[in-house]
Amino acid sequence: MATFISTPSHENLPRTADVVVIGGGPAGAAALWAIDRAAPTTRTVLLEASESLGAGSSVASLECFRSCWPTLCLARQLERSIEVFLHADEYLGEGAGKDIAVRQNGYFFCAFTEAQAAGLKADVARLHEIGLTHVEYLEAEAIRQRFPWVGERVIAGKFDPMAGWLDSNALIYRFARSAKNAQIVLGVGEIQICVEHGKVIGVTTPFGDIATPRVLIAAGAGAVALARGVGITLPVVIRPRQSFTTAWRDERIPPTSPMIISSAPFAHLRPEAHEGAIFGFEYTWHNKYAGAAYGTNAQHDGLLEPVFPVANLKDPRFPSITLALLARQFGHRDGEGFANPRYLRGIRHNIGYYVCRGDEAAYRVGNEGTHIPYESERAIIDAASEIDGLFLSIAHAGHGIMSSPTAGEIAASRVLGLPFTDPTFADFGIGVHWVEHDERVL
Ligand SMILES: Cc1cc2nc3c(=O)[nH]c(=O)nc-3n(C[C@H](O)[C@H](O)[C@H](O)COP(=O)(O)OP(=O)(O)OC[C@H]3O[C@@H](n4cnc5c(N)ncnc54)[C@H](O)[C@@H]3O)c2cc1C
Repeated sequence: MATFISTPSHENLPRTADVVVIGGGPAGAAALWAIDRAAPTTRTVLLEASESLGAGSSVASLECFRSCWPTLCLARQLERSIEVFLHADEYLGEGAGKDIAVRQNGYFFCAFTEAQAAGLKADVARLHEIGLTHVEYLEAEAIRQRFPWVGERVIAGKFDPMAGWLDSNALIYRFARSAKNAQIVLGVGEIQICVEHGKVIGVTTPFGDIATPRVLIAAGAGAVALARGVGITLPVVIRPRQSFTTAWRDERIPPTSPMIISSAPFAHLRPEAHEGAIFGFEYTWHNKYAGAAYGTNAQHDGLLEPVFPVANLKDPRFPSITLALLARQFGHRDGEGFANPRYLRGIRHNIGYYVCRGDEAAYRVGNEGTHIPYESERAIIDAASEIDGLFLSIAHAGHGIMSSPTAGEIAASRVLGLPFTDPTFADFGIGVHWVEHDERVL
């Protein structure tokens, strides 16, 4: 089992490592686990700025997973990750299945109009084409029988029965603990990566230096500053995204309900969180709360620089806007369903960053060689070609928990110089600027 150092000092900080991983969220913890599985004698050190693991975006997440990805590399990444979740005891140690508490209730995407229904039908056809034949297109009658609580307005749907949710914090700790040769140091911020003659030679921390030939940056939004420290501008866009947990849930929605995803702009709810539910959507974030001083990237509805603490960027209207939007789409009158004011009592409002592949790493080439950027769903898991020994596992966008086991394995392959278990995983390379069907899905 990994060793945890929670009060670091000059005396107890490890002085050497084969690999240093910076960041103890899903990406960093999973990489630690996967490196240990692939090469068990590797001495790894994970450095986490906070007092606990999983202190970044995962705190705000809905902790959901789904298998229905039209991009081949993502479909394969999720297929493998779900295999790990469903056999957690085997991959993450005895009792892991109980700890991570997978609920496989499915995902149900709703269509309210014929045009939306046609869109979902086309999605399902694409998913079947790449072998995801378990994903169903449902007509109104089947929906009335299986999910009557979504109501009469929903005329068609896409159902992914492999999908569900889990306890992300338990998952992160299971990854970390099961890396036998790992030392995990909590409360270490202000890390500098040290480079000499174009090669990584170690890291500097407030508690001293660690000599290492390989560093993996897996620090979520914190990756931007770490990379800049060695002269690298990461090709990412930073988008604040919000969610909220309610203490109550409309009694018509049973605990067996799938995750429900409404139509554009795709507000969604995980209909379970004790007695309540967790809601979210990719609400267009405006710079009003950040202020001009931080700089915004208007084209991408994102920030040029992450702002810490991210809580300063919460839009207090987000919970009521989300519920009003859902009530309108599902046709709930005042006081009923999503328009029931009980939802707004005792809310926990969360915010975190989606770190996404940016323009320089996601574009089509148009006529005359012009670059046409698009919003990619692919993470960046690769070597940073500018510096020997520096690796990245970043830009996990809105699916960094569900994809974490495979993201860890891809990062381990990169760091250890091993072949990928699936050739499509090369598409997470920083220089792969376009792949088919790699568009934002939710
Ligand atoms: C509202 C919302 C809903 C979401 N819902 C889902 C969902 O349902 N399913 C899903 O799969 N994903 C979801 N996500 C996305 C998911 O949370 C992220 O993709 C995932 O957390 C990214 O993992 P990460 O390890 O790259 O970064 P993070 O989770 O941000 O973790 C980074 C870690 O690195 C540490 N760190 C940062 N800087 C430094 C530094 N300089 N030195 C040391 N440590 C550092 C941080 O403290 C943190 O612990 C959601 C996100 C949000 C915001």
